[in-house]
Amino acid sequence: MGDFVFYSMASGSSGNSYYIGNGQYGFLIDAGISGRAIVKHLKAINVDLTQVRALFVTHIHKDHTKSMSVFGNRWNIPVYTTRKVHVMIDEANYIHKKVSKINRRYIEHEDRIQLGDFYITSFFVPHDAVDNSGFIIEYKGIKLVLATDIGHATPQLIQAVKEADYLIVESNHDRQMLENGSYPMELKKRVASDVGHMCNEDAAQLVATYRKDSLRHVFLCHLSVENNTPELAVATMRNALGDKVPVDALNRNVPQLFILS
Ligand SMILES: [Zn+2]
Ligand SMILES: [Zn+2]
Repeated sequence: MGDFVFYSMASGSSGNSYYIGNGQYGFLIDAGISGRAIVKHLKAINVDLTQVRALFVTHIHKDHTKSMSVFGNRWNIPVYTTRKVHVMIDEANYIHKKVSKINRRYIEHEDRIQLGDFYITSFFVPHDAVDNSGFIIEYKGIKLVLATDIGHATPQLIQAVKEADYLIVESNHDRQMLENGSYPMELKKRVASDVGHMCNEDAAQLVATYRKDSLRHVFLCHLSVENNTPELAVATMRNALGDKVPVDALNRNVPQLFILS
């Protein structure tokens, strides 16, 4: 009781990082803010680096990888992502420090790996980077699904939503706000494209259509600061789901701790 935690430290285009753990140990998903900030935020919930067993990386974009190499190099923490993403990390010239070879771990789409009492399955997510992943995390029979930076719903994503007891899903923008907003046309097209970001309406429809009855909580992630508001994202999801399932928007830079079970 009270030992499965989800801790959102940062969510959005200026950085993403999440910790999932059980009181003794856990792992990070994405390290898109500074390593120092992550350590500080973890300390606030009494977690230190010796308890962090791994870092899982969803994709190569900087808002998800900024301090990845600090973990996978200086702090000697294994970094899990697909083989293709590891190759991209080596080749990307904006990533100056690389993940050291001994800390590279591979998790391909549909692979299921064990980390203590956690089981983590990777699945494909369409987005404008190479080989993006979402993750299904199982702990004592409870499934938490995380999918961020989603261009559109795929069969793999739909299947993950169907299985989720807890769901962290991108609700990036309001379609109207994006259309009428100040982004240059190119960027508007990129965000709204099949390999861009998921809007509030599509996220709400996806979850409302495929969720199981016993879905316990929805967390909306990667909200745009320009083209969305937390109130609007939550209201859109609530309209679709009714009031039986709690819905929270994850803050861009204020950590939030949720006790899942
Ligand atoms: Zn992102
Ligand atoms: Zn991205």
